[in-house]
Amino acid sequence: MSWLGMPISYARHALDILIVAAVVYRILIMMRGTRAAQVLFGLLVILVAFVLSQWLELLALNWLMTHFVDNLFLILVVLFQNEIRRALAQVGRGDFFGSQSIGEMARVVEEVVRACNRMAENRVGALIVVARKTALGNIVDSGMQLDSIVSQPLLETIFHPKTPLHDGAVVIEGARILAAGCVLPLATEGELPREFGTRHRAGLGMSQESDAVVIIISEERGVISLALHGGVVFDLKPEELRSQLQELLRSGGES
Ligand code: ATP
Ligand code: MG
Repeated sequence: MSWLGMPISYARHALDILIVAAVVYRILIMMRGTRAAQVLFGLLVILVAFVLSQWLELLALNWLMTHFVDNLFLILVVLFQNEIRRALAQVGRGDFFGSQSIGEMARVVEEVVRACNRMAENRVGALIVVARKTALGNIVDSGMQLDSIVSQPLLETIFHPKTPLHDGAVVIEGARILAAGCVLPLATEGELPREFGTRHRAGLGMSQESDAVVIIISEERGVISLALHGGVVFDLKPEELRSQLQELLRSGGES
């Protein structure tokens, strides 16, 4: 290798490693908190069993494990088909690294605020989870997958009481509604005043278990509340909701 070739090949290896590291990092972020993470842990257990069966010369177990490991690639594709599909769609949209422009964030906030305002006026109950750093794959898995652009009419349509998807929560990530009809973890009783029911408990519970911003619209009172980090602010005016969302989403999940 010429003296000129050395640094170039180093640079090439460094670039190679950097790209693979970025891809692996992104895959891990995407899988965090999802069923996929549990599946991966299960696979890890099987791989340990495979190594042990070889080491202890347990022939039958080793035979079984060898066949399993031989087809690992196929098994991975089948097990993770949803995740692979979601990741490819993200790559296709150009937001594989999860970046969201400021203009796009402002549009999402505007659509959400307008929908919330109208739903509160019309006394339509709603529960909207806006994801930040914590991945909410397990919550998304509990509902109906949508993967559609956030818009005021769509949010209002989802929560319209006579539609099949109105029950449960919507999950928004970036500029997309990932799912509707999702089941959120409930906060324990006694953490909210007695007059609040399960919708508010679910919103509070979600905010205790993640850094997501949860918007709750009361069907009974027609008011907007916001749950964050295990606390709830009741009865927000639309402009207060707007400024809160702008603040909380702009910081990219820092606060
Ligand atoms: P509201 O002020 O709108 O009446 P509330 O706090 O009194 O709200 P409920 O009247 O009990 O609550 O609202 C019930 C609705 O809350 C359900 O129809 C459902 O859509 C939603 N909900 C209840 N539990 C959950 C949950 N674990 N995850 C997501 N949504 C839930
Ligand atoms: Mg109620």
